[in-house]
Amino acid sequence: MEMDIARILIHCDDIEARVKNMAAEIGNRYTGDETGLTLVPILSGSIIFLADLIRQLPLKMKIALVQVSTYPGSATLPQTPKTVLELSGEVSGRNVLIVDDILDSGRTLRRVQGMLRERGAKSIRTAVLLRKPAKAPPDVVVDFVGFDIDDLFVVGYGLDYDDHYRNYPHVAVLHADVMP
Ligand code: 5GP
Ligand code: MG
Repeated sequence: MEMDIARILIHCDDIEARVKNMAAEIGNRYTGDETGLTLVPILSGSIIFLADLIRQLPLKMKIALVQVSTYPGSATLPQTPKTVLELSGEVSGRNVLIVDDILDSGRTLRRVQGMLRERGAKSIRTAVLLRKPAKAPPDVVVDFVGFDIDDLFVVGYGLDYDDHYRNYPHVAVLHADVMP
């Protein structure tokens, strides 16, 4: 795995520190409105971020999973998002926090935010670890952002290429010859 990595963009120590800060920001936002909180992580890219974030969040919460595929297989250009796994829990009347790995073109989040509105969520907020500001569209609102990055295809800390590298602890860029 290591030999496929061209460079580390964000070191795991910096991720850890930022995720702790984000948890504090999120915790403050929900103080006084803690009841009926459901986190909706978008699988699979958000799994590591979710695991680290929720253990820093001293809020009572449920978790409802949803899986949307935007980059199937070895695609590095976004395709039309497909719902691969329907939402696994009830969100009607609940405060919902969507958790995703990255805001890129915004298609995935637009779709999930719309789905949660249709299902009658009381409030919808969104936390992403990464955002590519060069591409993020103005109509897709995110409330909590870990890091803004350049428009590069990144892997690690949950993010994959062809379902590999999710377990790489840092956010990194692959060598050009790995991604044809
Ligand atoms: P969007 O719908 O905003 O274009 O893309 C969101 C989803 O596409 C993310 O949840 C993530 O799974 C995937 N994605 C977007 N950009 C990247 C990237 O740079 N690297 C990887 N590995 N996945 C990405
Ligand atoms: Mg994803």
